[in-house]
Amino acid sequence: MKMLRTRIAPTPSGYLHIGNVVNALMVWAHARAVGGHVTLRIDDLDPQMSQVEYLEDIFRTIDWLGIDIDAGPSSVLEVEQAWSQQYRRAAYDAVLQTLVDQGALFACGCTRREIALAGSSGVYPGTCRDRRISLDATDVSLRLLDDSVAQLPFPVVRLKNGLPAYHIASLVDDVSMDITWILRGADLEPSSLVQRQIACRVPGLAQFVDVEIVHHRLICDERGEKLSKSRGATDVRHLRETSEGLGVVLEAVSRLHGCPLVASVHDLPSVIRY
Ligand SMILES: [Zn+2]
Repeated sequence: MKMLRTRIAPTPSGYLHIGNVVNALMVWAHARAVGGHVTLRIDDLDPQMSQVEYLEDIFRTIDWLGIDIDAGPSSVLEVEQAWSQQYRRAAYDAVLQTLVDQGALFACGCTRREIALAGSSGVYPGTCRDRRISLDATDVSLRLLDDSVAQLPFPVVRLKNGLPAYHIASLVDDVSMDITWILRGADLEPSSLVQRQIACRVPGLAQFVDVEIVHHRLICDERGEKLSKSRGATDVRHLRETSEGLGVVLEAVSRLHGCPLVASVHDLPSVIRY
């Protein structure tokens, strides 16, 4: 059987929160349990969102957890010198160009506010589909002419600032890193479906269709609310400073995965199974 290849792919747009860490531990534990390979990938495509202190937070957290990574950067310097997504822009842009050549995209000039007013619950209703705005116009996003994913119709593939969207960068990287198994939060399920559609259209990305994608529930706080980076109390940087911090994280893994509570990160591969 082919070796499982997976990745941990944090975005350095804020301090990691416990949800990011629980995901990373489950990815790592499953990979170790089945003799797989784990790549660390830094999803830093948007330079405005990415800050060095958040990158440092990622490496400190990996050290604190004590998990071993098989490939990828091991320091901020290595990200800056070789592993940043900035170095892979050409590959993302090539996929966008393929979609343009296929006539699969349209330009959308809608503002967030217009989208919120036009669709139900913020879902884009395809307002600009028939407006024939030039794809080369300024201040437009490019969207896929495809509304088959109900939660994410006409997905944006290139942002107004010209950057490729998350779906594109993550998909291209997963293919180039030969990823075979992905574990991500349920909030990314629509994105997974969109990525599969794009993979079907672009010959060089076809292997992504066979990637096994598992979605897990999101970690909630005591009140059942989704945790987000804006809520400082769940920053891992605070947990790292307390003696019970690792215990809190292991408890969260056990609660989310429904597995026995273990005493050490290194016991996780014996209880995490997908
Ligand atoms: Zn529009």
